[in-house]
Amino acid sequence: MIKKVGKTTILPKHQASCHCGNVVLELTLPNGIVNPRRCDCSICRRKGAIVGSVELSGIRIVQGEEFLTLYQFNTHTAKHYFCSVCGIYTHHQRRSNPNEYGYNIGCLDGVNPFDLGDVVTNDGVNHPADRI
Ligand SMILES: [Zn+2]
Repeated sequence: MIKKVGKTTILPKHQASCHCGNVVLELTLPNGIVNPRRCDCSICRRKGAIVGSVELSGIRIVQGEEFLTLYQFNTHTAKHYFCSVCGIYTHHQRRSNPNEYGYNIGCLDGVNPFDLGDVVTNDGVNHPADRI
């Protein structure tokens, strides 16, 4: 649970946006940033974002839903969303926990994810959903 990153306080309702600003989200983060992580699965290793978790009810699209593009692959369980204008990944419905979204911490207003210091890396190559 992280409630402050650098000089930015994480608000219970914190706004997030893509780079071009067409997509704006409101995240409900009563516990601040939860479980910040990197992941080395085939998609995360390419996008390189540091991701946090939020409940499915915790993301409200304030504007730009029409700019969000859905990308799915492999088992088509996870739903990966990105802005069709600037290409920035904003959030995804998780495969390992479909009751949660992961979201791009770098999209949070005023937050520099590099101020988090070291974050854990999930073992996405050996995905939890692929283990028996
Ligand atoms: Zn954009």
